[in-house]
This record gives sequence, C-alpha cells and structure tokens, in this order.
Amino acid sequence: MHPAVLELERMTRDREGFLSFLREWLSHSWRWAREEKYRLVFKVQAAALRAMREYLDSHGFTEVLSPIIGPATDPGIRGARQASIDFYGYEYKVMSSAILYKQYMAASLGRVYFNSPNVRLEPPESVYTGRHLAEFYQLDVEIYGASYTEAMEVAEQLFYHTVKRVAEEYGRLLEEKLGRSLEVHKPPYPRLTHAEAVRLARELGCRQPEDGEITWECEKLLSAEIGRPFFITEYPRGARGFYDREDPERPGVLLDFDLIYPEGFGEAVSGAEREYEPGKVEERMRETGEDPARYEWYLQMLRELYPLRTAGFGIGVERLTRYLCGLRGVWEARPYPKLAGIAPTP
Ligand code: AMP
Ligand code: MG
Repeated sequence: MHPAVLELERMTRDREGFLSFLREWLSHSWRWAREEKYRLVFKVQAAALRAMREYLDSHGFTEVLSPIIGPATDPGIRGARQASIDFYGYEYKVMSSAILYKQYMAASLGRVYFNSPNVRLEPPESVYTGRHLAEFYQLDVEIYGASYTEAMEVAEQLFYHTVKRVAEEYGRLLEEKLGRSLEVHKPPYPRLTHAEAVRLARELGCRQPEDGEITWECEKLLSAEIGRPFFITEYPRGARGFYDREDPERPGVLLDFDLIYPEGFGEAVSGAEREYEPGKVEERMRETGEDPARYEWYLQMLRELYPLRTAGFGIGVERLTRYLCGLRGVWEARPYPKLAGIAPTP
C-alpha cells in the first residue's frame, strides 16, 4: 500500500476530525493551491492531459467538445445522484458523464474523445474514500465498431504512454518534492474476471458480495495485492448501467472492464462494449429503474443508426493525478475541490 493511502486511512479513523480538516481544506483552497507542492501537482496534471492527447491524436482519435446539460445523462453512477436544472420548463440534467453523446459522436467520427466535466452528487460517506469528488473531469474515449477487448488495449496503451511521459518529464521532481517514485509498468496488464476478483478478495479476507460491483474496500486491497495495474472484466448484469452490453452467448455476463491502479489507489478506468439493440436497451433501462421516455432521442438514434456498435472507457483525471503524484485524496488533485455535503466552497 502506498504511504499516502495509509495516511488517508489514519486520517479517516477520526471521522469528525477528518471532516473539519476537509471543511477547512475546501473552503480556503486558494491558500494551498499556491504552495510549491500543489503547483507541481497541477503541472503534472497538465502534463498527463498533454500525454493523453498526444497518444489519442496520433492514433486516429478526434477530440470533441462535450455537452454540459441534456434531458438525460449517465444513470450508472453507483449510488450518486444527478443534478438538475430547469431548462425553459423541461428538467435537464447536468452531465454525470457524457456516455450517451460519445456513442453519438463515434457514429460521426469513428474514434473520439472528450475531456468532459462531470457532476455527481455522491453520497456523504464518499468523502472518506479519497477517490470521490462531486465535480471532476473524465477523459472519455469511444470507438466505432470496436469490441471491449479492443477498448481495453487502447486503455492500457494510453495509460502506459501517459505514465511514461509524466515519468520522463517530472519523474525527478516527483521524487524530490513529493517523495513519489513513479513506476512505469509495461503492458500487457493482468486480467481477472469479476468472478476471479471476488474469489481473490475473499481469500484476502474482504467481504465482497458475489454479484455486485467490487466494493471500494476490496478494490483497494486487490489493488495493493497485485502490485501492477490490472483489469477486472465481465461484471455481472445488475452491477452496471444499462449501456454495458450483455454477452449474447452468456446471459448475465457483461462485456465490460475496469482498470485498477496498483498500490491501493483503486479504480482508474471503467469501460465496456455498448448495448445497441433498441429493445434490449429499453429492457435494461426498465430493469435498472430508468424511464425509457426520458431517453427518447437516444432510443431513436439507436434505431436510426442501427447497429450502433461502439466500445469505450473513461478515465478520471483527478484520480489519475492522485496516482501519478501519490496524493492522499482527489481533493489534492483539484484546485477547487467539491465534496459530498461540504458547502459553501470556492
Ligand atoms: P464510472 O463510469 O462511474 O466508472 O466513471 C468513470 C471514471 O471516472 C472512473 O473510472 C473514475 O476514474 C472517474 N470517477 C468516477 N466517479 C468519480 C468521482 N466521484 N470523483 C472523481 N472521479 C470519478
Ligand atoms: Mg467505474
């Protein structure tokens, strides 16, 4: 486990003390944002974004501007709530992720990415994880005609290229100023199915349910145990949003994946092949408590552009920065962090 992850564990043992630390940290962010440490963090973040763009632009991708609001947004957000605004009498959502629009633009340009802002009203207990902001950026990639394994290869190469670049540019300063020795792990990365990850988590003594998302705690343990970035694939139906495609040959198994950081930093990336049969999408929407009527334009698009087969993934920019710099929490990787339940702040 990385010392910063252990330090966060130590800090959060006193929940009240940690909350008052966060309140202070968030409400006067302009003070620490000028410190040498955080100036380096923000430069490393810029270098990581540059490296990701460099990789994607030289591999046939086009950067597209993302939407900010729309009648529907990503509902598969693990217990977080969406934010709404009144748009001339209609309820519009602030994007919790731009997933529905990535498919749209992949149909137009083939290989696309957004660097998109997301708002998710995460539950109050998320403030203790070090991994949840209520407002964050996601580099969101989508590929027309790709399978989930092809998307995994892009995610792996993108991650490798980015860490290598940042290590070349900032490795020495990271070591010197932040005590972070950033290891460059060469792909291919190990792949565990969800079932294998559940088994391993249980062997490590973690309480992991059979057929849900891997819990934050177990993910951290696995991430510390494996010692390299690694994939968890094929989550069970029910664990994810309606847009992760179910394997037609293996009902109940989704064609999707997460990439997990080593050293206890947890999830880096989530991705999948997309469900594109309009009838199936509607069924999955109902099953996950979504009203298909809210997704009218999306369902119409799936019917008109049939078969709209795409695959892609998203990588959280602040979580990546946390990993690269070895920080205690994502609240150190954003100059104006917003966390569940803590307001007002800049
Ligand atoms: P998801 O589709 O929910 O897995 O989100 C995609 C990626 O965005 C994740 O793999 C994380 O890297 C990042 N992410 C998701 N939720 C948050 C959050 N609340 N704060 C910061 N980053 C997040
Ligand atoms: Mg995820």
